[in-house]
This record gives sequence, C-alpha cells and structure tokens, in this order.
Amino acid sequence: MNIAVANGDGIGPEIMEAVLKIFNANKTPLEYTVVEMGKWVFDKGFSNGMTPEAKQTIEKLGILFKGPMETPKGKGVKSVNVTARKTWNTYANKRVFQTLHGVDTVFSKAGIPIDVTIVRENIEDTYGGIEHMLTHDVALSRRFITRPGSLQVIKYAFEMATKKKARRITCGHKANIMKITDGLFLECFYEVAKDYPHLKADDVIVDDLCMKLVTRPDTFDVVVLTNLQGDIVSDLCAGLVGGLGFAPSANIGDHICIFEAVHGTAPDIAGKNIANPTALLLSGIAMLRHLGLMQNAAEIENALLYTLEQGIHTGDFGDKSNPSLNTTQFADAIISNFGKQPKLNAKEVIPNMPVTPTSFRLEKNPMLVSKEMEEEHIAGVDLFIESDEQPEVIAKKCQRHAGVKFNLINVSNRGTQVWPTGSVFTNLVNQYNVRFESIDGSPLNQQDIIGLYASLSGNFKICSLELLNMFGEKKAYSLAQGQ
Ligand code: NAD
Repeated sequence: MNIAVANGDGIGPEIMEAVLKIFNANKTPLEYTVVEMGKWVFDKGFSNGMTPEAKQTIEKLGILFKGPMETPKGKGVKSVNVTARKTWNTYANKRVFQTLHGVDTVFSKAGIPIDVTIVRENIEDTYGGIEHMLTHDVALSRRFITRPGSLQVIKYAFEMATKKKARRITCGHKANIMKITDGLFLECFYEVAKDYPHLKADDVIVDDLCMKLVTRPDTFDVVVLTNLQGDIVSDLCAGLVGGLGFAPSANIGDHICIFEAVHGTAPDIAGKNIANPTALLLSGIAMLRHLGLMQNAAEIENALLYTLEQGIHTGDFGDKSNPSLNTTQFADAIISNFGKQPKLNAKEVIPNMPVTPTSFRLEKNPMLVSKEMEEEHIAGVDLFIESDEQPEVIAKKCQRHAGVKFNLINVSNRGTQVWPTGSVFTNLVNQYNVRFESIDGSPLNQQDIIGLYASLSGNFKICSLELLNMFGEKKAYSLAQGQ
C-alpha cells in the first residue's frame, strides 16, 4: 500500500523520521511517496502551501501522513493544515486521549483512568475564515453550521463509538445561546441517535463540559462538538493526559484521510533532535488500524506503552531524575521493545486485514443537500447599517423608508434591542441592525427587499443584509436580546 507522506516544518522531519524508522523496523507493509507541503512551499510561491504534484498524489493515494506545518505570518496566506482538511472534506477530526502509564498526570496519580475520544467537526464553523470589517470599529465572522455537514460528522462519531464499544456519546454545544447554529447541530445529534439505541446519547453545554472534564474525565467516552469548541476542548483533554506530546489526530473523510499530531512545529526545539515523537507515532498507529494493519499497529503500540512504563522519556515529560533520550534514541528504545507486553492497556495482537484501497475518481463535486421539509417564505429583512446616531433618530429615518410593504420592528446594536424599548445604559457601536417585517404578514419577495435596500441606502451605508426566512410556521432567525 502506498501512502503520501509530508515531513512538515520545524520538528516535523525529525519526528517523521523516527516514526517511519519504527514502522520499517516492524516491517509495516507500506510504501511512502514524499510530497511537498509546508512553509518552504509557500516560500517557493505556492499560495496554498502545496505543490500541484503533491495535491495530485494525495488525491490519488487517499492517505496523507503529515508532520506539523507552519503558516507564514503576515503574508495573508491561509494555513495549509486547514486548507488540506477543508479541500479534501475530512469532515471528522478524531482525537483519542488515554492515560499512558509512565506519563504522570494528576489523574494517573489519583488512579483515575482517562479514555476520551473527541470528534470535532472539521470543515465549518468560524474556520471558514469568512471575515469582514463592516465599519472601522466592527468586525464580523460568519459562522456556518450546516445540516449535511453536521450529519456527516455526527454519523461518523456514532459509527466510531459503536465500533469502539463505547458506553456513552455526548454532544458538547452552546445551543442555549446560539440557538440556531448550535441548535441545528444538537438537533442533528439526536436525529442520528435514534438509529443507535444501544448507545447512551446525551448532551452537555460546552462550559459545563469543560468543568466536568477536568473534575471527572473518566465519566466521558466519546464527545462530538462543532469545530472551534472541539478545538478548545481537545486541547483541554490533551492537558489531562500529559500534554500535546501525547495527542494524536485523524482527519477522516469519505475519500481522503489525513493523520497528524495535534501539536505544532515547536520552533523552539526544532533541529535539536529532542522532540517527542509519541503524538505522531500514535497518529501513525491510528492510520495503520484505519488501513487494516492491525498486527503492526498492536505490536508497535505495545512496544510504545512498554517503553513508557519503563520510565523511558524524552525531555518534555517523565521523571526528571532519569536522563532523557533524544528523538532517535527514543525511537530505538521502542524498536528494542518489540514483542514486550505492557502491564496496562496491552493491545491484543490480531492479524492484519489490509483494506484494499478503493480506487475512486470523482467527476463532479459531491453536492450535499437535505430534503426541504417545510414551505419557506421571506417574512422580512435585517439590514445592518453604519451610523453613530441615537436609536430614536435612526428609527425615525428608517420608518420613512418602510413604504407600504414593511414595518420597522426594532433596532438593535450588538444584538441588544435599543428601540422601541431599551436602556440608556446599553453602550452603542457604530453599527445597527434595523429589522423590517412584512406589514400584514404576507410573504415578501427579493424585489421587495431590494426596493427597501435601495431606498434606505439614501440615508445609510448598508454593511450587509440577511433575509428573515420562515420555515413553515417557524422563524428561521433569532430575536434580539430584549425583543
Ligand atoms: P507547538 O505545538 O508547536 O508548541 C507549543 C509548545 O509545545 C512548545 O513549547 C513546544 O516546544 C512544545 N512541543 C510541541 N510539540 C512537541 C513535541 N512533539 N515534543 C516536545 N515538545 C513539544 O505550538 P505553537 O508554538 O503555538 O505553534 C508553532 C507553529 O506550529 C505555528 O506556526 C503553528 O501555526 C503551527 N501549528 C501547526 C499545526 C499542524 O500542523 N497541524 C498545529 C498547531 C500549530
């Protein structure tokens, strides 16, 4: 089986060399095609951080094993890591956090075992990076949460939890505040849960989840979250099991999968051959299992666990009274421990069952659209306008433009209603949302909205607009605070 390998920047080449040395010593039946990705590729003038040949190879082989990569700062280019995950639709980011014997943490010392898998949505949310300055004072980030995108990652999480024989699957969210976006994610979670009655499915608000994870991490099993919340919660979990040096990650898609460590390029220790290769090795072990190379995965993991149990460590962890090994020596120690059984969490060695790589060729971009359930119509519009005038003045001007079709419903500032009622204690910024609805509840069309836009633009700079959609009887938009 041939896979694509990108060494990465900083400590990337050192830890990748160590991991491939371990794989080769274990006679892992893999061939590696090295691809050009990373900071130096940006520097060569490729604005997405990878050469066209690298893109072609990865799309052909379907598996990318990568070291960490740096995004050049201040050049306006996007992270190659995020670009890779998004371009190839690796919609689920799976990170497994387990107690490792020999890696002391407050929980290992207290005898509390941790085995938490975080599944983070990997494409959407604020990671679209769609950001605009609407006025010189007001920045806007568009946060997309979609039904098909949520269903993809949540279905993966339930499937994975079933295979793992998990006892519980939890949705982390903030649907109490972001009722529409996180509300949709949560709705999808319970929709999918119906097909998995054997799994205990529940949900926890993300702040409460963080508190519970640091007090009773052993009560969680699989947790699925949206992108940004998942990013933060997974680093929190890395801290619970000993830090970033022990956090592997798999980016799973239907066609292409990317395996990498959670940590970055560690520029402070790069080139010294002292980095800890464990996170990349654990990511590689997850890749071997994904490819059906169960025997190699188990043999290597047992050797790693045995090595850690022996108190063998690199400089970033472990008992400081024992001298630390460098990256190469640490890899050699693991190789010398092939065949040894760790006392804790030993993996059963079962024969390899290589999955034949599916040869796929997509002719068109897959279109993900779910069935529309209800009649949809436009009930009004939110116009975001720039102004440093007081709410009453703005309301008066807006009412002049309402015409025969619209009613000015309210004026809000940073999501808080300031007209028709409000408080003089609400601080204002120079951007308001003026909400108009159909005067008699009859559906509006886009021409009506454009007419209002054109009229209002005589008085205000309109920064952006959003239609107020009704799905059946349900408002598909949020109310302002205080409305
Ligand atoms: P980092 O993870 O590189 O380093 C944070 C700290 O952890 C440093 O002190 C570092 O020495 C230490 N550390 C990290 N990995 C280690 C290892 N394997 N062994 C021993 N110590 C280790 O985070 P950062 O400094 O914020 O980011 C550096 C660069 O990496 C940035 O350019 C960032 O964009 C990039 N980055 C890339 C990825 C990726 O490729 N997926 C992920 C995160 C950050």
